[in-house]
Amino acid sequence: MSGIALHIRQIKDSLPAGVRLVAVSKTHPASRIQEAYDAGQRIFGESRPQEFAQKAALLPPDIEWHFIGHLQTNKVKQVVGVASLIHAVDSERLLLEIEKEAAKRDLIVPCLLQVHIAAEEAKFGFSADEIQHLFAQNFFSNTPHVQLAGLMGMATNTDDHKQVSREFRGLKQLFDQIKRTCFTNNTSFCELSMGMSGDYRIAIDEGSTLVRIGTAIFGGR
Ligand SMILES: *Cc1c(COP(=O)(O)O)cnc(C)c1O
Repeated sequence: MSGIALHIRQIKDSLPAGVRLVAVSKTHPASRIQEAYDAGQRIFGESRPQEFAQKAALLPPDIEWHFIGHLQTNKVKQVVGVASLIHAVDSERLLLEIEKEAAKRDLIVPCLLQVHIAAEEAKFGFSADEIQHLFAQNFFSNTPHVQLAGLMGMATNTDDHKQVSREFRGLKQLFDQIKRTCFTNNTSFCELSMGMSGDYRIAIDEGSTLVRIGTAIFGGR
């Protein structure tokens, strides 16, 4: 068995029911993705629009492609129509651009709102307050072609497990609150994308439904 196949099997065996694995294949060639596919993996995550579109065209059509990276508004065209899920929607402008492109193509595009949960400055994402404000002002009535499927976040890159737990727990609480108040009797808001190679076990303990794992499957980039 190849290293990739082994890693996928080990990770999948450790995931509780209800948690899905997104194999993050960015920077790795199509041949490595094919190896993971042959081992049974079907969901892959990419973070650069051009690489995303090129790989999707090359690889088997039953792959579920997720776009996980920061998406610039001028790159939305390359991603809508290919992505089954866009994980990191982080601004009103981007929401409106996805809406425009999806409407043009008569598609409904599942998206996650990225929430800034890390202590670090540089990462993208809405604050919890901004997200609550979007719902309070009924912003999503402007974006009928965007299907809000849940939230996504990245914890601080630290060895402090308590801090990482606390950040993921805060995101889960926000997710539960939005689900309860804005999606009553509606099961479509159901995904909580949190956890990477270094912290996915903590994320699972805190309620993740989608873990995005690259290095632990494919090795270093
Ligand atoms: C690259 C990336 C990952 C995977 O990170 P690893 O540490 O390699 O598992 C997960 N999420 C996002 C948004 C990424 O850009």
